[in-house]
Amino acid sequence: PSPDRPIVIVGSGLAGYTLLKEIRKRDAAVPVTLVTADDGAFYSKPKLSNALAAGKPAAALAGASAEKMAAEQNATVLAHTRVCAIDTQAQRIRTDRGELDYAGLVLALGADPIPHGLQGDGAADVLAVNDLADYAAFRAAIDGKRRVTVLGGGLIGCEFANDLAQAGFAVDVVHLGAWPLERLLPQEAGVRLADGLASLGVTWHFGRTAQRVEHAGEGYGVTLDDGATITTDVVLSAIGLRSRTRLARAAGLATGRGIQVNRLLEASVPNVYAIGDCAEVDGVVLPYVQPLMVQARALGATLTGAPTAAVYPAMPVVVKTPAHPVAVLPPTIGAAGGWKVECGDAGVCALHLDAAGQLQGFALTGAETGRRDALLKALAA
Ligand code: FAD
Repeated sequence: PSPDRPIVIVGSGLAGYTLLKEIRKRDAAVPVTLVTADDGAFYSKPKLSNALAAGKPAAALAGASAEKMAAEQNATVLAHTRVCAIDTQAQRIRTDRGELDYAGLVLALGADPIPHGLQGDGAADVLAVNDLADYAAFRAAIDGKRRVTVLGGGLIGCEFANDLAQAGFAVDVVHLGAWPLERLLPQEAGVRLADGLASLGVTWHFGRTAQRVEHAGEGYGVTLDDGATITTDVVLSAIGLRSRTRLARAAGLATGRGIQVNRLLEASVPNVYAIGDCAEVDGVVLPYVQPLMVQARALGATLTGAPTAAVYPAMPVVVKTPAHPVAVLPPTIGAAGGWKVECGDAGVCALHLDAAGQLQGFALTGAETGRRDALLKALAA
């Protein structure tokens, strides 16, 4: 890398900025330019779904500005700059503000909310929260309102439902599955989570999808596929995210569910890498903080001369639902075996065991989440 041909990181989310810090831990001087479409302020995305309980206004969630990050990390940060194309031959990116050559290019582009596809004259007002700017718009929308309908009872939907209900909003959650987080949790654990949120006042609509959103008085009517209508003030879509792959695909990089990279985080063309929510590492997209930290640490070493593969420890997913917390370590996809579920007053302890009784994963709820570390130790052994 040289000042004319630096390492270029695209994206100022946790993946992009964590990588920048990892590079700087190892090399104080190698030229790095970070390019980002947003304002480049550092923030922790997981805080967006518990900021009401934390008593934080949207503005309080922004950490260091782009200028401050650039100064602290001895890097160039180009905010409000969108990358439009990658020339992998010339090793050059085209942005809406000019071109930039790279020695190494790291795509840390994140993921987009899946379009909700709703009909009706209120469909365009449905919100999704995937960054700080979205969150500011969401907080403005709920200000002075009473009722919020959340579409999707996955991790993010459950967290927002908890935060909103705790803050006194009447919350409806429309969820296609028979219980929340049904792809991660066995039924008993999911039902307990649903009950915990219901005890805060959340109304569940299981096995349903929303079809239309129409203006109704000051608010909206949300029509479900069984014809029922929910009257609400704000509709928040949390039906899922998908990796941003378009830019990479257009440049001829291999993509699947994400930008395909190997354990060294190398894409299918030389000197291009991907990490975070946009990356499909060795066949798997893991859209959580802990994996992107592991990836950033490994790639930081690789880009400063010590090629290092991303090797994950056991990484439980923690759902921030104080009404009934959840910690789950899903078994690897396709693992044979089944759940052994114990339900107590305080929560559910579900262990995923193989035929020989060997622990492969777990799902803990309520007070049972306190067993997480002991189970991780048992797994490591
Ligand atoms: P992002 O933060 O999305 O960053 C992508 C960056 O790329 C942005 O700066 C964007 O502007 C930029 N960009 C995109 N395209 C371009 C372009 N063409 N040109 C220039 N710049 C571009 N995970 C957990 O582990 N625990 C949790 O408790 C948790 N809670 C969450 C709560 C919410 C509400 C949400 C939405 C997610 C949560 N997650 C949680 C997931 C976690 O936050 C993400 O995995 C992580 O933040 C992704 O970081 P990223 O840097 O890959 O992507």
